[in-house]
Amino acid sequence: MIPVTRPYLPSREKLDRYLDGIYERQWLTNKGPLVQELTRRLEDYLGVRNLLLVSNGTLALQIAYRALGVTGCAVGERREAITTPFSFIATASSLKWEGIEPVFADIDPDTWCLDPAQVGPAVTSCTRAIVPVHVFGNACDVEALEEVAQRDGLKVIYDAAHAFGVAYQGKSLLTRGDATTLSFHATKLFHTLEGGAIVFKDEAHLEYAKRLINFGITGPETIEGLGINAKMNEFQAAMGLCVLDEMEANLQVRAAIWQAYESALQGGRYQLQLRNPNASNNYAYAPVLLSSETDVEATMAALREVGVYTRRYFYPSLDSVDYFGIGTRNRHSNDVAKRIICLPIYVGLTDRDIAKIVSVVERVAS
Ligand SMILES: *Cc1c(COP(=O)(O)O)cnc(C)c1O
Repeated sequence: MIPVTRPYLPSREKLDRYLDGIYERQWLTNKGPLVQELTRRLEDYLGVRNLLLVSNGTLALQIAYRALGVTGCAVGERREAITTPFSFIATASSLKWEGIEPVFADIDPDTWCLDPAQVGPAVTSCTRAIVPVHVFGNACDVEALEEVAQRDGLKVIYDAAHAFGVAYQGKSLLTRGDATTLSFHATKLFHTLEGGAIVFKDEAHLEYAKRLINFGITGPETIEGLGINAKMNEFQAAMGLCVLDEMEANLQVRAAIWQAYESALQGGRYQLQLRNPNASNNYAYAPVLLSSETDVEATMAALREVGVYTRRYFYPSLDSVDYFGIGTRNRHSNDVAKRIICLPIYVGLTDRDIAKIVSVVERVAS
């Protein structure tokens, strides 16, 4: 069976050594030494400052909104954030959960990222933030988005759950905006079983967020303000330290798979994502846009017959999810969501697997 993705499991011996250390120290959570070590190593590896590890990528978004003052509103005051309908549900549901109404603006039909030209017209007097997604690791048009934000005094929180390690004009993409969040879920490029992180532009926001993720507790006998529990634990950090050690080798393997798909599927019948020319690729996903929803269903069925399980990422377009209310449907997002599939990409996928997948995709689309 070939799944769409397979969580990466690092060297067992190395993980065992970290776990032995945890057993010796008997320090399992609350700012433990492995969480501190992973924080430093990730800041170093990614080329960022003010990184805060948290328990998952959804809480990373929620804590970022809170730390930047997007939420925690006065009674009765409506708050809105403009976001993309072409993403994983957590991008928009985390806003709703925090009492902020997601307002969906359409994506660019080629890059599949939030279109800055659609953001401006969606701004109202209630808009507090823009939450773009570097979807499939493709860097958004950050300059144009930040220009809109600056003009209207909005915060920018990038959901970079797919963009681990991506560079933009020679610097980390994760340094953009007021905050950028990451997910370290088991299926992501870099993972800590479950986990996430926030990279803040300002140290003051980092310090505030540290308090928010630990119940607002600031000392043995002091509680300063409302908080929640969003801490990463030592077992998560141990997994992260092991996966990080093997990151470069993994990226090389994934790059080869991605390039094999790209060269095989180059041509008129499929559309590949138009990548930002100023950004690097982290080969996190292998999405292909087919010519119709019928083709998607036929391709998935044909692949299943040979034991290959693809997924429709991201489907449905989030502006069609009931609990967000009935707003206008975004044309490009709905169109792309209907026609997209993600092909398998993970360490361990063989050349034979790739050839098999490509031949089925080509046969159905022809
Ligand atoms: C995975 C993902 C999240 C949520 O991260 P979790 O760690 O699973 O909570 C948020 N946004 C996007 C775009 C994602 O792909």
